[in-house]
Amino acid sequence: MKRSQITFSVLGGLALLLPLMSYTIYQWAERNKDEALIQQIYDRQLNTILFSVNQYCWDKFETWTAAFTDISHQPEENRHRIRLLLKQNRSLVGVILMDSSNHEILQEGRFSRSFKTGQEVTQTVSGEIDAHHDQLERLLHRAKEGYVKPLSLELNDVDQAIDLILVPVVSLADSSAPWMIAGLFIDTHRFVQDVVIRKFNEMDDGNLAFATRSQEGDILFISDNETNPVFEKSDALWILPDLQLMVKMKGTTLQSLSRQRTRNHLIFLLVINLLLGAGIFTFIQSVNKAIRLARMQSDFVANVSHELRTPLALIRMYAETLELGRITSKSKQKKYYRTIMNECTRLTQLVNNILDFSKIESHKKEYTFQGIQPEYWLAETLNSYRFHLDQRGFQLDTGIEGEFPKIRADREAITQALTNLLDNAMKFSGNSRKIDVRLEKTDSSLSLSVRDYGIGIASSEQKLIFDKFYRVGSSLIHDVKGTGLGLSLVKHIMQVHRGRVEVKSEPGHGSTFTLIFPVHGA
Ligand code: ADP
Repeated sequence: MKRSQITFSVLGGLALLLPLMSYTIYQWAERNKDEALIQQIYDRQLNTILFSVNQYCWDKFETWTAAFTDISHQPEENRHRIRLLLKQNRSLVGVILMDSSNHEILQEGRFSRSFKTGQEVTQTVSGEIDAHHDQLERLLHRAKEGYVKPLSLELNDVDQAIDLILVPVVSLADSSAPWMIAGLFIDTHRFVQDVVIRKFNEMDDGNLAFATRSQEGDILFISDNETNPVFEKSDALWILPDLQLMVKMKGTTLQSLSRQRTRNHLIFLLVINLLLGAGIFTFIQSVNKAIRLARMQSDFVANVSHELRTPLALIRMYAETLELGRITSKSKQKKYYRTIMNECTRLTQLVNNILDFSKIESHKKEYTFQGIQPEYWLAETLNSYRFHLDQRGFQLDTGIEGEFPKIRADREAITQALTNLLDNAMKFSGNSRKIDVRLEKTDSSLSLSVRDYGIGIASSEQKLIFDKFYRVGSSLIHDVKGTGLGLSLVKHIMQVHRGRVEVKSEPGHGSTFTLIFPVHGA
């Protein structure tokens, strides 16, 4: 992938991510405003519902009072009308009319549940009229101006569920007609059931929950299945102010509803942001990896050419010199032959690495597993390798004592792995000339370690060195040749053997590479 393409893709990703992130931040900042707006709209709706219910109850009350405004003209006909009214409205228990001197004009109703005699009813009402004389005066004054307002009283000594409403009755049509005080006995529970709830139900579209509560805090009614008792909006009933009407959205409160909605919205946006961010991050990562790999591949080609050319040139030079017969000294001849042999071995190792690598990459590499006695195999391999070490003045310290269980392995592959480690130990030893090889057995594994006292590897590089083509870019190893394939092969070989390779290293103090083989089922 070209650099311009990468820049273009990254910019494209950012072009998507940035507006989305800004939108998320905007939403986050505005979330309270949203909530307030939604709250306002719902508040208004709930208030409208409460208002309508109140208005309906008021209308009801007005139709009741209308029944006895002109009672003084045709008493009998009106008495009949009041009886009908009582029959049709179960919540209206009874009606009593008192004249301006607080004398009873008429009494109709089903008082037996709360009062023993009609006399008792009259006494109660006239007592309340006396007690609230000033208030009623004011209400009368207003009624004469056309504003009817009732005085609602709770009858403490009587049945708790009965309320008394006192209302001045004046005839606006005939100002000379005498005024009266009407007393309406209301069965509160019935009123709630027959009037309040009916209106609520009429307005409910399935999302509302409502309740009515008395002044003492008793819930007189609560809509079915309503588990959350927090009602957001409430208002006193105009004609019976002791009663509170309460309403809210079903199951939840508006506030939590809008908060939840905003939260879900934000979570959704955040998830999209994260996904997109993760996508861009992975993309950049893989692009970086691709670039690194491409660079390493081209370095590899240069390194391999060099690695091939140098030994070939040496071999050719020594072979030509020998062929010309100019070298007469036997020891010198031997030295030349040995150099040719050495370079051949190096070439073989290099070519093997490259061939194996290409087989592994194309999944064609095959392994032949057999039971191997590790200490014999190791001694044998080190024996044939010792020559290289001696030649370059290395001192090999081996620790292969004791008995070891057999391992199942491909002899050629593990030899190649060990040789790669020994090669590296020599290459990166700097001025040190000491290498240790240890074979050890633990409970479930066998470990073979190669330790050098050379340049070491920085901890940030320790994971990367097992990647194909990877070579540490420090100036210390600048002159050390290699292809970057050795350790990736070692890692692969150990994986095939269900084992692993580990490295411990400190820059300046050397490195220890350990091959760990499982011993179960060997
Ligand atoms: P090569 O040796 O051909 O460069 P390897 O895959 O064998 O490739 O090693 C990868 C890199 O790991 C080396 O280039 C070197 O930087 C680092 N390395 C490997 N072994 C050692 C060691 N024993 N000491 C220090 N650095 C090492």
